[in-house]
Amino acid sequence: MRLRKIKGADAAVLESPFCIPPSEQLKGAWRTAFACDGPIHIEIGMGKGRFLMTLAARNPQISYIGIERYESVLYRALQKMEQTPLPNVRFLCMDALLLSDVFAGGEVDRIYLNFSDPWPKDRHAARRLTSKAFLDRYRQILSPAGHLEFKTDNRGLFDFSLQEIPAAGWRIQAHTYDLHHDGAMNAENIMTEYEEKFSSLGNPICKLIASIPVSQNAKDPS
Ligand code: SAM
Repeated sequence: MRLRKIKGADAAVLESPFCIPPSEQLKGAWRTAFACDGPIHIEIGMGKGRFLMTLAARNPQISYIGIERYESVLYRALQKMEQTPLPNVRFLCMDALLLSDVFAGGEVDRIYLNFSDPWPKDRHAARRLTSKAFLDRYRQILSPAGHLEFKTDNRGLFDFSLQEIPAAGWRIQAHTYDLHHDGAMNAENIMTEYEEKFSSLGNPICKLIASIPVSQNAKDPS
């Protein structure tokens, strides 16, 4: 993603009541950040946040945390929230590398990855958000009944993920190479900004859902 730095975005993110600083130490206590005590779903690499906020408006009983590493991107989501605040949405401006510093074991009930950066060069494979290194981080924070949902139009990244996820000990519950023509998987689909852009160019959208087999869930969530 080409990044245009927006003047004032850093300060807006820092001061916004909708953005929780990663240093605030809510690890293990994220439910206290929300009025409802429901499950916690996170989106990593949220971008401008339309997917997360549409989902949150549909599901007020679920608490949503959007994670984005760049202030200038997060700022766009913040502007939407200021226009139409949602009590069940908070944002975190941080790199997903730090997930297990910020969430306790089992604290997260679902993880969404949408149109993650493909990092096509082999030497950058560990930076892909579906690489083993990141899957191990997700395993630390995901609840036993939780799961991961991943969408992309990038066939190379999707094929890599279909191999990497089982190799990391996860189970792929479902997958499709053409989400928008898959009645079951497309039911209730919410398009992200990138999904709308790439599908309008004729690119098929791939999606998978993965979970951790019960025997492999973290034994000691901390
Ligand atoms: N999910 C949005 C969509 O589908 O429209 C945005 C997709 S954009 C290609 C990927 C986003 O992920 C960018 O905003 C990027 O800054 C963010 N991102 C990439 N790696 C990240 C990481 N390690 N931690 C947090 N955000 C990350």
